[in-house]
Amino acid sequence: MRSFLDSLLQTILPCTCASCGDVLMPGEKQICINCLADLATTRYTGHNDNRTERLLSGRIAFANATSIFFFRHGNTVQKVVHAMKFHGNSDLCLLMGRQMGLDLLASGRFDDIDLLVPVPLHWWRRIQRGYNQSELLCRGIAQVMQREVNTRALRRHRYTQQQSLQASLDREANVQDAFSLRHPEDLVGRHILLVDDVLTTGATISSCCQALNGVEGLTVSIATLCIAGK
Ligand SMILES: [Zn+2]
Repeated sequence: MRSFLDSLLQTILPCTCASCGDVLMPGEKQICINCLADLATTRYTGHNDNRTERLLSGRIAFANATSIFFFRHGNTVQKVVHAMKFHGNSDLCLLMGRQMGLDLLASGRFDDIDLLVPVPLHWWRRIQRGYNQSELLCRGIAQVMQREVNTRALRRHRYTQQQSLQASLDREANVQDAFSLRHPEDLVGRHILLVDDVLTTGATISSCCQALNGVEGLTVSIATLCIAGK
């Protein structure tokens, strides 16, 4: 029934690209083929000592880390992230998660991961947005890599007011002690992939890792959809 209504709606209302706004052609989903090709890829995933690893190195202990795309002012990736966070486009989050999964899989450096853990949203923010974009990135990765997603081990207990994308990036430093561990038993002896949407200063990832400290036998790797800057 749902898919019948979806296809009926799609017939009546043409779907448009979440980035450029052009009407999507048959076979295109969420973003058009031109915008998909225009996503600025970092090519970090296959290499250690990439900029994501250098940013986090010395602050937290991790096995491997990567960011898949560059987030720059006005670029296609920025438009995609904006649509994921502020336009309620949950299918786009899944699509970008699948892009991440393909990149992770192709690199061979993330084959040991046995659990996907999204950076959590505060419960009230999750209700406001309707979903956690990082959780949906994990669900997209899971479709490609066939791994379990755990959304209950980590919790964000600090709430901050909804702001613009830029303000929320600038505010990243204000996340110390924002996370706590609820179900450490889920993570004992596991190699988790901690997943977030945008990496700027690394403060959010570092704060999550502080909360994960002390879990016995835990190995952490990190993947973010994008990294700010060139
Ligand atoms: Zn487009």
